[in-house]
Amino acid sequence: MRIELVNTGDELLLGDTINTNAAWLGQQIAALGLMVSRHLVVSDGAVIKEAMAEAASRSDVVLVSGGLGPTSDDLTRESIAELLGLPMELNEGIKSHLEAFFAKRNRSMSASNLKQAMVPRGAIVMDNPFGTAPGLYFPAELSHSRGWDTHFFLLPGPPRELKPMMETLVEPRLRAMLPDGADRRVLYLKITGVGESDIVEKVEKKLEAISGLTLGYCIRNGDVDVRLSGAAEPVDIGAVIVREHLGTCIVSEDRRIIEEVLVQTLLERGETLSTAESCTGGYMASRITDVSGSSRVFGHGFVTYANEAKQKHLGVSAELLAEHGAVSEPVAKAMAEGALATSGADHALALTGVAGPTGGSDEKPVGTVFISLASKNASTIVKRYYYPGTRDRFKLLSSQAALEMLRRRLLGLPLA
Ligand code: ATP
Repeated sequence: MRIELVNTGDELLLGDTINTNAAWLGQQIAALGLMVSRHLVVSDGAVIKEAMAEAASRSDVVLVSGGLGPTSDDLTRESIAELLGLPMELNEGIKSHLEAFFAKRNRSMSASNLKQAMVPRGAIVMDNPFGTAPGLYFPAELSHSRGWDTHFFLLPGPPRELKPMMETLVEPRLRAMLPDGADRRVLYLKITGVGESDIVEKVEKKLEAISGLTLGYCIRNGDVDVRLSGAAEPVDIGAVIVREHLGTCIVSEDRRIIEEVLVQTLLERGETLSTAESCTGGYMASRITDVSGSSRVFGHGFVTYANEAKQKHLGVSAELLAEHGAVSEPVAKAMAEGALATSGADHALALTGVAGPTGGSDEKPVGTVFISLASKNASTIVKRYYYPGTRDRFKLLSSQAALEMLRRRLLGLPLA
């Protein structure tokens, strides 16, 4: 099934709004085991009609977002009516929805809003509980007059309106169009600590030999997502192979990122974590606190950038700092143990390194980082890593390695 996407809005072309709808819709379509074959971004106005015609001439399904609002530049409805030669009719259901929507908010409805109640004849209205612009579905037979066999779905632009409509009203229709729709699956195996080339070497040939399986990789935030899609059986066979060869490196199979997995695991175990960061400046704590529920497992995050701070808050001795330097194995270990003692947490992760671009030496070049994990009921571990590059990438990869160290301890896995 060929699907194309048309996103409308000057703000997308001007760069004022990032086209998050395209990314999100692409993922939703991929989750059905399909792929958007093309997407077009066009200005508000008459060009929408041209873009829809172009997409329809090549596709079974055209998804359009934006331009369903009440203002004069919202022309998607009129454009499709012209394109398919359908007269506009007042839809009483939408009119009542609009009246109720404004009454509930104690606002009066302007005449321009009534424009949203005008619907091309034959279109199926998709309710929008989160806004005024309803979505519209045009089954393929409405495009036969143009010689096409194309389904059109018109969705509102605001993501909080588009997403629920896509999930509840569009996806079930797309599934029903697929011959094996109910059986289609996509599985994302999130892998950390292994490079894409190693993953390819370990599993690619075996996965490619599975008939009916589509394989994809996506590198994001230091992880690699291995995407398996197709009918349930080949996806299941593929997943067994990935687990067999990369099992301990799989962080999740449901798209959760490592900090989400860690917070969940700590919650389940009733354990807590604290952090002591130098070179990452609180980035690791920020990642943890991005996760809902983290307050129950995370109470203390120390950002001890200066040596005095390491001494004052973590009890790192001046002698240790003088003898080995702040970026060293003994100091990382002392930071983790200090954070553990001060916070009373069950686990403490510490990082100290050289983010650069200045401050490196032959012995400890820019990109060097020492990561340590201290736990109440286990011996402290410390390991040296090397992540040269930009400061933000250094922070990302260092914190990723630290979180992975904890994940491995919690799961009883050896350090990679
Ligand atoms: P309404 O006019 O009722 O708000 P609409 O369907 O006409 O809805 P637009 O006017 O195109 O939608 O966009 C409304 C809002 O949605 C704007 O804030 C816009 O930046 C945002 N938006 C539109 N398209 C996208 C997109 N592709 N990705 C992310 N945000 C978008």
